[in-house]
Amino acid sequence: MNVRTRFAPSPTGFLHLGSLRTALYAWLFARSQGGTFILRIEDTDQKREIAGATETIYRALRRAGIDWDEGPDVGGPYGPYIQSERKALYQPFAEELVERGGAYYCFCPTERLDALRKKAESEGKAFKYDKRCLNMPREEITARLASGEPYVIRQNIPAGGVGFFDDEILGRIEVDTDTLDDQVLLKSDGMPTYNFANVVDDHLMGVTHILRGSEFVSSTPKYNLLYNALGWDKPVYIHLPPVMADRNRKLSKRHGDPSFEDLLDEGYLPDAVVNYIALLGWNPGDEREVMTMEELVGAFSLRGISKSPAIFDRDKLRWFNAQYIRALPAARFRDLILPHMGKTVDTAHIDTLRLAQLLQPRCETLLDITDKIGFLAQMPPFDAALYTNKKMKTTHETSLPVLRALLPVLEAVDCWSESAVRDAVSAFIEAEGMKNGPVLWPLRVALSNSMYTPGGAYEIAGLLGREETLRRLRGSIAALMQSVKRADG
Ligand code: GLU
Repeated sequence: MNVRTRFAPSPTGFLHLGSLRTALYAWLFARSQGGTFILRIEDTDQKREIAGATETIYRALRRAGIDWDEGPDVGGPYGPYIQSERKALYQPFAEELVERGGAYYCFCPTERLDALRKKAESEGKAFKYDKRCLNMPREEITARLASGEPYVIRQNIPAGGVGFFDDEILGRIEVDTDTLDDQVLLKSDGMPTYNFANVVDDHLMGVTHILRGSEFVSSTPKYNLLYNALGWDKPVYIHLPPVMADRNRKLSKRHGDPSFEDLLDEGYLPDAVVNYIALLGWNPGDEREVMTMEELVGAFSLRGISKSPAIFDRDKLRWFNAQYIRALPAARFRDLILPHMGKTVDTAHIDTLRLAQLLQPRCETLLDITDKIGFLAQMPPFDAALYTNKKMKTTHETSLPVLRALLPVLEAVDCWSESAVRDAVSAFIEAEGMKNGPVLWPLRVALSNSMYTPGGAYEIAGLLGREETLRRLRGSIAALMQSVKRADG
């Protein structure tokens, strides 16, 4: 069988993480089967449409590494792939469905429907159309249509029966058809509803496997009735477990949960997010976690999809992101953080590659660098307590003579570089018969006034350059002298 899957977003906003996961699974399944992946834009509910959302979806999918074989911008044998551009195509199917008894014309005015809706509401019931137009005589229908009266076409759900569908993950799902509404299939302006268009398009586009969110489970028995009434082969249904923000709540933009591109803006790498998202509701059947897109394609199977909800865990995502950051070539990492670096330090006068190498093992997101490099641009305020380090056996008193002795050593380095500083200072340490800690700890603090820095004294001196290193060292010696004097006085 030639597997054909699709991702069918409505252009109502950003690509949220649940949708990204749906797209990813449909794509992975198609790719793993050597099949075809289709992108279809479902924009028949034009009231809900948001300008620019279609382009946002294309861009986000591309950034995620998801490509499509057929779709609005790339074309294909079953186009157009934007539902509003297919408008004329649905009416004949709706009429055929009427002929076959699966649907009927409804002329009820809005006021009547509103009254029915109000009544249901006041009785605490879900609204259901009362089938008033179902048995209208054929001549009356013909006459009303001929007079140009507005109408919709509704699905005729058989009363008192059992609606069902078979799901690859969930098994057979059954509903009492009396709970189902005779939903509108074709609106009075001739536009199909989502509920009709998705069935017609999945059929016409030869979709073999439908992967989508669990929110569609309750509608799918109705879709099955449509397939039956039209005499069409049914696709394989795969409803995916919800992605939750916590145990009680689905992930949702409305609650401020991030979209895929929000995460990229927050310094997450697309590959890391995609890898993490792939594992929210699926597993490869072994312990693997960090997987390339190719490995995901190789391992993907419907069997690995879980029934139970998955919880989006930010810490776990940070962990994945850290793994991906570590694995980047340093120059690539530098290029990625350069714009963020540029907000804090003068990138024209600093060895950005060296800085990137130092930051790379210390970051979980690209934005983590900001608070780690601030000290390079501006010396934080003096804090004598930083010189006290039990492990290094230093206090601010023991530090002062060490730093005073180091000053001429560093002043004597004229061809300045990290390794020249290292050579000079290690020679000093050896000559003095000292240990590294009591020298390098005070020097690092003297150059940074910080508890944590990416790299130690040598690296910082290399990054700061000769002039700034000596300026900071002299400043720190002066500040230490003041504080030692104060302590003595
Ligand atoms: N247009 C629907 C949505 O945006 C897609 C549902 C489906 O995959 O059938 O959620």
